[in-house]
Order: sequence, then structure tokens, then C-alpha cells
Amino acid sequence: MSTDRSRADSPAGNLDAALAEALDRVAATEKLLVAMDFDGTLAPIVPKASDARPLPGSAAALDVLCRLPWTTVALVSGRDVDTLRGLAKPSQLIALIGSHGAEIWLGPHADPLTLTPEQEDLLASVRTSLAELSGRYPGTTLEHKPAAVVLHTREADDDVAAAAEAEAAELLEGMDGVFVTPGKRVIECAVVKSSKGEALQLLRQEVGATAVVYAGDDTTDETAFNRLLPDDVGIKVGDGFTAAGFRVGSPAEVQLLLERLQQARWNR
Ligand SMILES: [Mg+2]
Repeated sequence: MSTDRSRADSPAGNLDAALAEALDRVAATEKLLVAMDFDGTLAPIVPKASDARPLPGSAAALDVLCRLPWTTVALVSGRDVDTLRGLAKPSQLIALIGSHGAEIWLGPHADPLTLTPEQEDLLASVRTSLAELSGRYPGTTLEHKPAAVVLHTREADDDVAAAAEAEAAELLEGMDGVFVTPGKRVIECAVVKSSKGEALQLLRQEVGATAVVYAGDDTTDETAFNRLLPDDVGIKVGDGFTAAGFRVGSPAEVQLLLERLQQARWNR
């Protein structure tokens, strides 16, 4: 909602009253699933993705939430599960959905993602093509995931980023079995079809959640918002179209809502 930098960058004073009321209501549910996108939601966006860290207040609120009975905390991200596990503390208590839903980690005994030989070959060919492309566009980088290659353009100049993204989109369009997910200054090229929404649905069933709180800032989070039910609470972070019922301006406001949710769940 807010594009005002001073407001976006500093902890906001108060939550919207309707959102606070919705959080208090959902906190009373029997089995609560709190599913949070990572970058741009828990962690402010930074130029270098590896430097991203959740705001300490948000991490502390999630830490309390995941220790409360009948309460599951999940990180739902485009990042791969191994990276997420390193960022989540305490990781053993948090369910992880990585690679936009292609990887779901529900504990140390969960099955790791496995690719068919055809998918392995396809992934190798996508890697080769994108490495060649990225080499021609300064500032672009590749991230390698178990089932995907991601082209990051955040550190490139705007015109270079736009050209690289356009060429990548054209290149990948013709590749059968490659699923392309564009994001903010990022293009994900996966060889497994998945979405955050499908993964959220699976997770909801797995934990038997009676209500879900989901927050996210990117276009890929819309697949999750679209799966929410009337008793759930969906929160879009930042500007842009959304199917979510609520909106906050920044990760600092996400911290406020998590603190509210944590207190309400604690006191129920
Ligand atoms: Mg995000």
C-alpha cells in the first residue's frame, strides 16, 4: 500500500484494525498453519540474495509460534530447501516449501526430490543455455536448484536486465517440459511443474490445518492466495494486484502482524 520510503523502511506504528481483528479471530482456530514467503516478506529485499535475513522481530515471533501447540510454521519460497533450512531458525520445527513448491520438506525423514533421467537431461541443457546467456549480460547471475535454474537480474542495469529477461523468455518458450516463472528481476526455469499454491494445499492437508495465515510479496504468491478459504487470512506485502484479503506495506509491517498473531495465539 505504501510506497513512501520512510514508512516502508521503518517499523510501522499500528496494524490496520481489520487485519488485527482477522488475526485475533484466526488465532483462535484449532490447528493453525502460518505460511510465510521469505524474501520481501520476512526478509527485506537486498541486492545480493545471499545477504537476505529475516527481521529479528519476525524471526522471534515465528520462533514462539512454532513452539505453541497445534501450530505449524512453514516457509514458502522460491529458494531451494537447503538454502531455506540454513535461513530458518530453529529449522527442525519449521516446514519448508522450496523452489516455488517443487520441494516440500516436512522433517528429516521426508523424501528428497528426485528427477527422472529426462528431467535431469533437460535441466542440464537449460543450465548450459542460461549460462551462455548470462555470460553476455553483465550483472546477471544464475542460481542452481535441484529442479531449476534461476536467472537473477537484480544487480544488472535496468536495460540489461530487461534484455536478458526477454531473451531468456524467448529461449525457454520453445523448450518442452520447462516451466517458467517470472518474478521481480528473476526468472525461474523449472523442470518440475509446481506452484506455491499447490504446495500450500498439500501442506494444509498434511498438518490438518483448520485455518491458514499466508503472507507474500511476489506474483508467485498469488497461486497461494488463490487457494485460501474464507476462514484463512491472506496478506499481500507491497504494491501490485493481489487476490489476498489484506495488504501491508513492508516486511516491518509483517513483523507487526506476526507479533500480533503470536500474542493472540499464546493467549487463546
Ligand atoms: Mg517474496
